[in-house]
Amino acid sequence: MRKKIAAANWKMHCTLTEATALAERIAHTSFSLSEHQEVVICPPFVYLMMLRQMLQQKPHFHVGAQNCFTESSGAYTGEISASMLASIGVEYVIIGHSERRQYFGETSGMLARKLDMALQHGLKPIFCCGEPLEVRQQEAQNAYVLTQLKESLFHLSAEQLARVIIAYEPIWAIGTGLNATPHQAQQMHAFIRHCISEQYGTQPAQDITILYGGSLKASNAAELFACPDVDGGLVGGASLKAEEFKQIINALSAAH
Ligand code: PEP
Repeated sequence: MRKKIAAANWKMHCTLTEATALAERIAHTSFSLSEHQEVVICPPFVYLMMLRQMLQQKPHFHVGAQNCFTESSGAYTGEISASMLASIGVEYVIIGHSERRQYFGETSGMLARKLDMALQHGLKPIFCCGEPLEVRQQEAQNAYVLTQLKESLFHLSAEQLARVIIAYEPIWAIGTGLNATPHQAQQMHAFIRHCISEQYGTQPAQDITILYGGSLKASNAAELFACPDVDGGLVGGASLKAEEFKQIINALSAAH
């Protein structure tokens, strides 16, 4: 059975006091997650060690970074490498979030390199893809997402791909309160699975975890998680409210 994940992207939010309080509220709640269900918390870099320590003994809970650099080490002031993340016990890393593409000029080529780095150092990448509003309005979202997959992902071997998680995040839904409908999400997730199948074969396509992201919250999690090709979510805003995120985790545990 493929892995189902509720992942929290805290983005650039929380002071140390706020991050500690939020993490404690999640860490001190018990959830009934099954073997194939996981929670991944992706705080800002500076809180990774703390989160890892807090969640180390909590089954099904993991820590992820929000980015990593294209090189392993060197004179790159201000950057953080995949090898550094691996060395402190981080297991996941988000790569290609639309905010990184938009505000930091991350290109498909850079993302391909970041994926290589993450995999080389044993991290599990959460690779984000998704179309802007104007592309959706022209009904060209499939071609757009396929290009993103081709340019950053399809150079990987099947063995490498098996360690990647895909997050479909339509840009028009991120932080807008406007989520994709379950029908829209299901259609795109099925399309992504079809593209993976064309490139790698049926089994890798069946096995890959595809998360939905974009204004996912407690009130819409259950219906999105009920879609057959939606394997959980990457959650921004709603992951900053402990009660809301706990309900999303519970929706995941009740799904499939
Ligand atoms: C995100 O940033 O990955 C995201 C999905 O944000 P939000 O849930 O706030 O739309």
